[in-house]
Amino acid sequence: MARTRTAAPRQASEVTTWHDEADVLIAGYGCAGASAAWEAAKAGADVLVLERASGPGGTSALSGGEVYLGGGTTVQKACGFEDTPEAMAAFLRTALGPGVDEDKLAAYCAGSVDHFTWLADRGIPFVPSLYDDPSWMPPTDDGLMWLGERSWPFTELATPAPRGHRPATGHFGGWLLMDKLAAAAKDAGARDAFDVYVERLVLDGGRVVGVIAKQYGEERAYRARRGVLLTTGGFVDDDEMLAQHAPKLLGMDKISCGGEDGSGIRMAQALGAAVKHMSAGQVGFHAVPAFMARGVVVNNRGQRFINEDTYPGRIGQAALFGQGMGCWVVLDEAAYEQVPEGERWGVLPHETAATLAELETLTGLPDGSLQATVALYNEHATNGEDPVCHKDPRWLRPLEPPFAAIDPTRSFRGPNDAAVGSGAAVFTLGGLETDVAGQVLHVDGEPIPGLFAAGRASSGLAAWGYISGTSLGDGTFFGRQAGRTAAAAVADNHAGVSR
Ligand SMILES: Cc1cc2nc3c(=O)[nH]c(=O)nc-3n(C[C@H](O)[C@H](O)[C@H](O)COP(=O)(O)OP(=O)(O)OC[C@H]3O[C@@H](n4cnc5c(N)ncnc54)[C@H](O)[C@@H]3O)c2cc1C
Repeated sequence: MARTRTAAPRQASEVTTWHDEADVLIAGYGCAGASAAWEAAKAGADVLVLERASGPGGTSALSGGEVYLGGGTTVQKACGFEDTPEAMAAFLRTALGPGVDEDKLAAYCAGSVDHFTWLADRGIPFVPSLYDDPSWMPPTDDGLMWLGERSWPFTELATPAPRGHRPATGHFGGWLLMDKLAAAAKDAGARDAFDVYVERLVLDGGRVVGVIAKQYGEERAYRARRGVLLTTGGFVDDDEMLAQHAPKLLGMDKISCGGEDGSGIRMAQALGAAVKHMSAGQVGFHAVPAFMARGVVVNNRGQRFINEDTYPGRIGQAALFGQGMGCWVVLDEAAYEQVPEGERWGVLPHETAATLAELETLTGLPDGSLQATVALYNEHATNGEDPVCHKDPRWLRPLEPPFAAIDPTRSFRGPNDAAVGSGAAVFTLGGLETDVAGQVLHVDGEPIPGLFAAGRASSGLAAWGYISGTSLGDGTFFGRQAGRTAAAAVADNHAGVSR
């Protein structure tokens, strides 16, 4: 069936007027685009960033700002943690797998301390203190947080160290990160053009030499002397692409600025670019991590299916892909009260009961199922053990009446909002296959001349699994690398095109 839109390339010979030109054209001004722009400009290239929105930021500016870094950063050391690139790699290989790109993993872990320094040198402040409770987004300005490193099975793979690095602001810090990165790119000399939606790549003899875009409904052509770098984000906003590649993510809430429509991925695919891990997605489970760690998460058969103290996106993936999002967070009053109000995200129990039998009736769980699960959990918790799901002993305590149950499909909504939601917000992890240098690979495995990509437009560190911070992490890290590579590409001084 014909598609409703086209991303087919155009030949340079068909372009009559180039509206602007640069050594390196970057499409998309989020964290990957800004980092790439800084490096390319610092390398002496004339850089022009084209962005469909009216300013820089993208999803990066809406994000939590957590950047996954380790191997012994100054913040880790100040908080008393020893870490190595090897321990970091051992954790990420399993947490982000299966199917992790070993070259990218090795480069990222080896370069992590330097990358932290680069971010700090761009003016991003990190407070050297640890937030020591499971959380999606700590309400404090602590610069370091755990992201599942001290949960099973990771505790058996490497010495745990917290690696979630956060800009110095409570809750969401992506705005601060992007504010500093965009200012740094501008200071380095990168130019920008906004309200420019890039639609197609321009080819000359198999090499990418520009883009065709629309600005206020007018078609515009931009020439790239050295290369085009796609940092247009993922494809969660395009339901047609979700249906094609990641149908389990369809119908979920979207984690996005609204501009992640996969356009960059499709433009490159139209040239024969390879893609990777297109079905993978981060599942931002609508449950409070601090509640889950202190209680149990059960499916609609009343059974536990994962250790509740692990990274909450891992619980979200297990809930969506394994349980069809049919689950409950069950805890007792003491656990609820232990969680500071600022970390409850306004979530109130949906059902409360003096007995588990009553809670089964209220939640529709099969008679006896929750009673059996909690009885076994409590028996083991008394001995500080969890042989069923391997929750760390620090969170184990027998659950006692009164009990409460929280429905993730009604969580994170107003207390008076009874409507059922999707239970999670998602974004896509798959994208264009790139090498460590940021070159986009053709399906035959060779780099496509003049074409580069980074951030969620590409397949980065995450293969199937996800850990918070690896998106801003690989977007900025491999964005920088792609910016350097594009700036160093041999200039195409093809004559015959007029400006
Ligand atoms: C609430 C929330 C919390 C999050 N928390 C974290 C976190 O703490 N840590 C983490 O690592 N990740 C987090 N994420 C995910 C992370 O923000 C994104 O995955 C990441 O920012 C992607 O960066 P990017 O540079 O690839 O894309 P973006 O930042 O989305 O930038 C892409 C840009 O390209 C533009 N664009 C798209 N198509 C075109 C086109 N055709 N022409 C021109 N411009 C185009 C878009 O408008 C956008 O500005 C969070 C996301 C959200 C929404």
